[in-house]
Amino acid sequence: MKKVLLIGTGGTIASDVTANGLAPELTTEQLLAQIPAISDICDVDCVQLLNLDSTNMEPRHWLMIARCIREHYGAYHGFVVTHGTDTMAYTAAALSYLVQGSPKPIILTGAQKPIGFDSTDSKINLLDAFRCAAEDLPGVSIVFNNQVILGTRARKTRSKSFQAFSSINYPHLGVLRDGVLLRYIRQDCGAYPLFYEKLDTKVALMKLVPGADRAQADFLLERNDALIIESFGVGGLPESGGFYDCVRQWMDAGRVIVLTTQVANEGSDVGVYHVGHALKNQLNVLEAYDMTTEAVVAKLMWILGQTHDRSEVERLFYTPIAKDILWPVE
Ligand code: ASP
Repeated sequence: MKKVLLIGTGGTIASDVTANGLAPELTTEQLLAQIPAISDICDVDCVQLLNLDSTNMEPRHWLMIARCIREHYGAYHGFVVTHGTDTMAYTAAALSYLVQGSPKPIILTGAQKPIGFDSTDSKINLLDAFRCAAEDLPGVSIVFNNQVILGTRARKTRSKSFQAFSSINYPHLGVLRDGVLLRYIRQDCGAYPLFYEKLDTKVALMKLVPGADRAQADFLLERNDALIIESFGVGGLPESGGFYDCVRQWMDAGRVIVLTTQVANEGSDVGVYHVGHALKNQLNVLEAYDMTTEAVVAKLMWILGQTHDRSEVERLFYTPIAKDILWPVE
């Protein structure tokens, strides 16, 4: 029988009612005990790595998860990481950069309702995650509500219902029907993954509002190595408010600036309109194209953990990793 490692990090799936609200209390063994049917799918060992609400998850925890997978990589067919849904898309993206080209499945799952509740999605999500971890499903993915979503393409788009995640600008990797994985896409992989151990966490994100000026961007750029600006539509910056000088000044000072969009689907194309043309063609800002903001955050942390050289940052940023960016580079 296949061997799968369950890595517990907390989240609603492991939460119980406390006097101060839901909090992760259950151990990985207690989670497993709720679903005896898992023993028909695979043999499971457990590591209780963390027990956090994922709102408290930080990049150092992503590194801990990646390290745990690395340490146990040889001994297991696949890995299931239980995780809160709130920041699961960030962790899935981060693991996609920290553990690249894995031939073995690395599955994140969680739930919108705790496993002890009468109405819960915890049990089916966990069962499906183990089914996928025992299959031929390379790379990092999220298994949730019967769907398999590529780790670089996930976003939490619903805060309450069981359909918590969407796959952004990329098809689902597969679905589970009556407990059977129908795999539509098999991710590329190598014989052994490339593991990385460094992140630069000085990456900030700013959402543009109409009428904004450069002050907030200045504040963030003073304190960080990279700033992602979620602008409007296909992308651009207001012509008033000093943004163009701000971008020029901070890029000259070595900061990385990436434009992306607040629009949920289809991504950026910054050069199209006058409000973006000079940014793209003269100031040479980077743009996210079809990447999710979660993936841009994690990718910049991973890149800047390795290099601050401008042209190398640009080359790595536009190099597709785990199908995080398809257009226009492929
Ligand atoms: N606040 C919880 C968490 O992200 C929500 C969940 O798991 O669904 O840990």
